[in-house]
Amino acid sequence: MVLDKAVLKEVQKLKKDCIVLSHNYQIPEIQDAADFTGDSLGLCIEAQKVDKPYIMFAGVDFMAESAAMLNPEKTVIVPDLEAHCPMAAMLPAKTIEKAREEHPDAAVVLYINTRIEARALADVMCTSANAIKIVKALPEKKILFGPDINLTWHVHRHVKDKEIIAVPDTGHCITHGRIFSEEDVKRTRKEHPEAELLIHPECLPAVQMMADYICSTEQMVKRARDSSAEEFIIGTEVGMLYRLEREFPDKKFYPLNEKAVCRTMKMNTWEKFVTQLREKKNVVRIDERIAEKARKSLERMLELSV
Ligand code: SF4
Repeated sequence: MVLDKAVLKEVQKLKKDCIVLSHNYQIPEIQDAADFTGDSLGLCIEAQKVDKPYIMFAGVDFMAESAAMLNPEKTVIVPDLEAHCPMAAMLPAKTIEKAREEHPDAAVVLYINTRIEARALADVMCTSANAIKIVKALPEKKILFGPDINLTWHVHRHVKDKEIIAVPDTGHCITHGRIFSEEDVKRTRKEHPEAELLIHPECLPAVQMMADYICSTEQMVKRARDSSAEEFIIGTEVGMLYRLEREFPDKKFYPLNEKAVCRTMKMNTWEKFVTQLREKKNVVRIDERIAEKARKSLERMLELSV
């Protein structure tokens, strides 16, 4: 998309009182306009270091909630308040309450891709990068893990001595868990035989089993930097390819499936992004009592992941 130069200049001006954060799956125009592009937790931590009254978070609901939770003195705005992650919506707080009643001896570990009400009921949060480490570090032998059944499988594969129960038992990412298939792996391996295959742990177990490396999005950036390989097949949402191509212009990146587009992430259009930078009306509001509890489960994660 060719952008109007006057609008680009205006965006730079509007950023004077606003830090702009873009998730890796956002459209290229928003990634280019951002101060930081990365994964949800990394972005919230970056925001804490910048002294500006507003945060524009281009991502989905649970990410903006994290930003609001970790930056209570700042106002968080988003391009579209309706950008709700379907996977996060699969784990309402009442499902955790019920699972806790059924398994009182279990620790509740939740993936960062959950809504704030659910996080407030967790013992500890995790990311796809540190999930194995967190589960291993807990003293409990029984773990309730949610909301992604595929990430649960990935953790269980590496932590055999604990009982890990998926909550809910059908939670998944619509993009990673439904689009990528074993056929995609066979086809792209044939097309690019020299390429390393990097797969996100939200993909189906059968697809994960075929990977060279299972990686979170930030681990994909690290792998592309550290590896001597010059080509990579990327098994995650296609927005990630733009980030990788921008950072490593001498390497080649191929999508595992070019249809892997998260519709919710792409609700954030350039027009909505600019409008909200101007008007700052889409304010993310969280209940401070819930946020206080949710902050504790995140702090526990930070303690256990060092
Ligand atoms: S890619 Fe999956 S987990 Fe991420 S926002 Fe989209 S549906 Fe949710």
